[in-house]
Amino acid sequence: MTSLLLRLAKQWIAGERAEDGINRVREANSRGILGLLNLLGEHIENREQIQSTVQEYIRLLELIDENHVSAQISVKPSQMGVALDSDYCFENFLKIAEACKSHSNNYLWLDMEDSKLTQKTLDLYVSLLKRYENTGLAIQAYLKRSETDLKYLMNFDCKIRLVKGAYNEPASIAFKGKEEIRKSYERLMSELFTNGRSGMFIAVATHDSRLVDFAKSLSKECPSVPYEYEMLLGVRDNLKLRLVREGYQVREYVPYGPQWLPYSIRRLREKKSNIFLLLRSLVTG
Ligand SMILES: Cc1cc2nc3c(=O)[nH]c(=O)nc-3n(C[C@H](O)[C@H](O)[C@H](O)COP(=O)(O)OP(=O)(O)OC[C@H]3O[C@@H](n4cnc5c(N)ncnc54)[C@H](O)[C@@H]3O)c2cc1C
Repeated sequence: MTSLLLRLAKQWIAGERAEDGINRVREANSRGILGLLNLLGEHIENREQIQSTVQEYIRLLELIDENHVSAQISVKPSQMGVALDSDYCFENFLKIAEACKSHSNNYLWLDMEDSKLTQKTLDLYVSLLKRYENTGLAIQAYLKRSETDLKYLMNFDCKIRLVKGAYNEPASIAFKGKEEIRKSYERLMSELFTNGRSGMFIAVATHDSRLVDFAKSLSKECPSVPYEYEMLLGVRDNLKLRLVREGYQVREYVPYGPQWLPYSIRRLREKKSNIFLLLRSLVTG
């Protein structure tokens, strides 16, 4: 079962080593697509392991420079100990943000995880942003609180990656219907495009064609707002290329590392045909 899952997972992950991630980014760059590297892993509780994750991200920034590839990095707060101790987590992020600054003034993105971590992640982000402007945060359209969170973040020169949200949250705090989530995404995107400050940046992170088109029309109304499209490795490759041909900036999220299972399960759940693919592999071996 594990080896079948790994075979399936390989469509969404670059491999187990940082070099695999760099190679995938090089390929994407050759097609005009930028990279966003993430070391897989979440909910790390052991401080030694957390320190080696910090070091791995610093090494990744060195590899990006040495290989002359164009990529930013994205980190999960639970890889940095957010649930253990917020101050400790902040110190770890500071080390990575400082390394980003000294490596070609690169960019640090914070992934948003499940709702238990939302407030801590927001607080962490604002503290980081005050010291390092090249720092961005994912905001989940399925969370009912996101509208308020976004309005607060827009008091700063925030960099926002807008996503639908990938975790299984209860209906008391999250929109559950596909259409409701899309509508929320559209509301948040409109707010960002029409009321954002000049130092802001928007990453429209979705594979949903309706939302991609909605961003195009907003950007026609607000042509000075800087934004890009972001999509996951292995999903909607033709759409990525079409957007590049049309002149849009496109970035691909490239995860790598031995801890590929939770990430791959989230990707499997996102499309019914992925489940059929898994079942077919099980039957045919
Ligand atoms: C760059 C990036 C970063 C992200 N960061 C975060 C984060 O920090 N926190 C978080 O909670 N979520 C994150 N996500 C995941 C996001 O929340 C969604 O779970 C995911 O993007 C699917 O939603 P969608 O907007 O693409 O719409 P969907 O309605 O799920 O998909 C639209 C269409 O895209 C295609 N598609 C989508 N997913 C798949 C798939 N796995 N396999 C095959 N086809 C697919 C299908 O054709 C589908 O009809 C990120 C997504 C991206 C692109």
